[in-house]
Amino acid sequence: MANVSTVFREIGAVVQAMGVTLRALLAGPLTVQYPEQPIAVYPRFRARHELRRYENGLERCIGCMLCEAACPTGAIHVEAAENDPAHPVSPGERYAKVYEVNLMRCVFCGDCETACPVEAIVLGHDFELAVYDRDGFLLTKEQLLNPKVPNVVVRAE
Ligand code: SF4
Ligand code: SF4
Repeated sequence: MANVSTVFREIGAVVQAMGVTLRALLAGPLTVQYPEQPIAVYPRFRARHELRRYENGLERCIGCMLCEAACPTGAIHVEAAENDPAHPVSPGERYAKVYEVNLMRCVFCGDCETACPVEAIVLGHDFELAVYDRDGFLLTKEQLLNPKVPNVVVRAE
């Protein structure tokens, strides 16, 4: 009798396993035709950096260098300069004259983003970072201000 119950239990396990297989088959393929088909990322996904502006066009970065200090790998280089009151670049006294991110050093920890008091530097969703030479991994301020995929969700002012 014990053998009969064992057989039924095994059959039940097989049916259960086949049910899992059937559900997976009906759910359709999980793969996507990348790069033709874009890949969705989670809202808090961290990839290529972006420098943000205010709606009036002024740069958010005030050249305080807190991001540079917070970076554990020394991937950020900032050189600040005084704003010309007649033609300010940012709302603060200073702005970032030079802002560079070395992607060869970056570990995408997000510490720079956390350290920034004005949400100027953020990690965006652009993960297509391949380039043909090492210099391409050094992002300039111009590149950071003009991201390819400007879709970072930030908190309201
Ligand atoms: S994400 Fe981390 S490692 Fe990369 S630049 Fe920012 S602080 Fe540095
Ligand atoms: S990005 Fe933010 S933390 Fe870095 S220098 Fe500019 S204002 Fe300061």
